[in-house]
Amino acid sequence: VIPTDDGDLEAGHRLLNWVWYYHLAEDSPELAEAMTDVNGKRHYGTVPRGQISPTAWAKQKALGLSTMPAPIAELIEKTETPFVTRINDIVSTNGSFFNGKLFLVGDALAAFRPHVALSTNQAALHARLLEEVLEGKLKPADWSRQTLRWGRATWMLSIVTGTLGLGSRLALAWAIIKYICLIIGQKLRLVN
Ligand SMILES: Cc1cc2nc3c(=O)[nH]c(=O)nc-3n(C[C@H](O)[C@H](O)[C@H](O)COP(=O)(O)OP(=O)(O)OC[C@H]3O[C@@H](n4cnc5c(N)ncnc54)[C@H](O)[C@@H]3O)c2cc1C
Repeated sequence: VIPTDDGDLEAGHRLLNWVWYYHLAEDSPELAEAMTDVNGKRHYGTVPRGQISPTAWAKQKALGLSTMPAPIAELIEKTETPFVTRINDIVSTNGSFFNGKLFLVGDALAAFRPHVALSTNQAALHARLLEEVLEGKLKPADWSRQTLRWGRATWMLSIVTGTLGLGSRLALAWAIIKYICLIIGQKLRLVN
């Protein structure tokens, strides 16, 4: 549950923020249609609220109404201004640059698939550790090592969790193997 644009959180006024994860193949006409706005502009990351092509939304809505349970279908039916965001995951190869004068924090350091809902935890962790760096209690290189270690493990976990819900069994097995290898490697300090 989230406030309205005016900050109203009263029951009956407040909004429900919902997400529908949906696979579209790279280079498919469906992805192109979903990422092209009402003015014909193709977006890479997000098509903002009010800008989704009515044809693309009508198709997605029809699918939702015919396949989702009644309460979810009602949510879809009543949604007036949806937006679409392409999901990416990535981890930087380094966390601090220019001899500890520049740091990557939050999503800039590591962007996870959303299924683990740990990205805000990461941003908070970075803020806490950065305080230690600024107080001279943690070296920039150690900050980089610690944050990348946590980031890589959480990134792999997000791939496992996402594949559990949306991928094939083979893809899931492969993701689990890679995750276990990473965790063992980190425990044995073979990798960060
Ligand atoms: C729809 C949605 C749902 C989500 N749900 C969850 C959830 O349930 N749980 C969870 O943990 N995470 C969730 N996330 C992810 C979470 O919101 C992000 O991981 C988190 O906000 C990252 O924080 P950040 O500070 O790294 O980046 P941001 O919050 O993106 O902050 C970056 C800031 O930098 C500003 N900025 C950008 N460019 C410039 C510039 N050139 N100059 C100055 N300022 C600039 C931006 O305006 C922004 O304020 C969700 C994200 C989305 C989009």
